[in-house]
Amino acid sequence: SKADPIIVADGITRTFGGITAVDVEHLEIPRGAITALIGPNGAGKTTLFNLLTGFDRPATGTWSFDGRSLSNTPAHKVARMGLVRTFQLTKALGLLTVMDNMKLGQQGQVGERFWTSLIPALWRSQDTAIEGRALDLLRKFKLDAKKDDFAASLSGGQRKLLEMARALMTEPTLVMLDEPMAGVNPALTQSLLDHILDLKDLGMTVLFVEHDMHMVRHIADWVVVMAEGRVVAEGPPDDVMRNPAVVDAYLGAH
Ligand code: ATP
Repeated sequence: SKADPIIVADGITRTFGGITAVDVEHLEIPRGAITALIGPNGAGKTTLFNLLTGFDRPATGTWSFDGRSLSNTPAHKVARMGLVRTFQLTKALGLLTVMDNMKLGQQGQVGERFWTSLIPALWRSQDTAIEGRALDLLRKFKLDAKKDDFAASLSGGQRKLLEMARALMTEPTLVMLDEPMAGVNPALTQSLLDHILDLKDLGMTVLFVEHDMHMVRHIADWVVVMAEGRVVAEGPPDDVMRNPAVVDAYLGAH
C-alpha cells in the first residue's frame, strides 16, 4: 500500500529549548488509506502534525505531499493544495456563525485564532457556489439547522463535526485529524467514525492521532507509532499492537 505514498518525510527535527519534540528519520504515509498516528503523551504527534501542515517550522528536514515539496509553505496554502487538518482543541471560531466558519474553511483558513484578521477572507468567500458547497457539507454533518448560530453555541462533539466539515471545504486529498474523538460524547462517536470511514470511501487519505485503541483497531488500515519524537514502529494495527517495542513505548511513559 506504500508503493505510492502521499507523504514522504526525511530528517525532520524540531526542538523546544533542550527538548527534542520530533526527530523523524523517514516517514511515508500510504495513499488512500486510514493511518493512525499513536504514541504516549509528549511523543511529538501534534508537533509533527504542525510541521507537516505548515503551522510550525522544523529545525531540519524535508517533506513532500503528493509529490510536491512543502517546506516553507504557509498553512493556508498547504490547505488549498489539498492537505488539511483539524486540531486537538477545536479552532472553530466561536464568535462567527457556523456558515462563516465554513466559508473560511474554503479559503484554507483553518487555524487562526483571531477572527478579525479573517474579514478579508470572509469577503472573498461571498459566493453562492461556496455557500452551496458549505450547505451540502453541513447537511451531511447534520449541522445545517445551526448554520446561522454562533459556533460557540455548539456542543464539543458538534464542534468536532464542524471542524471536519470545514476542513472538507477545500476538497482535500489528505485529511489530518488530531484526536477527533477527544471530548465527543458517546452519542456522536459512531457518527464521527462513520464520517471518517466515509472520507476513505470518497477517495481521500486520512491520518489521525488518537489515544483510543479501540477506535484505532476499528478504522485504521496502517498504524505509525511515535515515542520521544521518533517513529518506533509501523504496520497493520494487529501487528503493531502485539509489537513489544510498542508495548514498551506506552508502558515507559507511565
Ligand atoms: P499528546 O498525546 O499529549 O497530545 P503529543 O504526542 O502530541 O502529545 P507534542 O504535543 O507534540 O506531543 O509534544 C512533544 C514534546 O514537545 C513535549 O515534550 C512537549 O512538551 C513539547 N512541546 C510541544 N510544543 C511545544 C511548545 N510550543 N513549546 C515548548 N515545548 C513544546
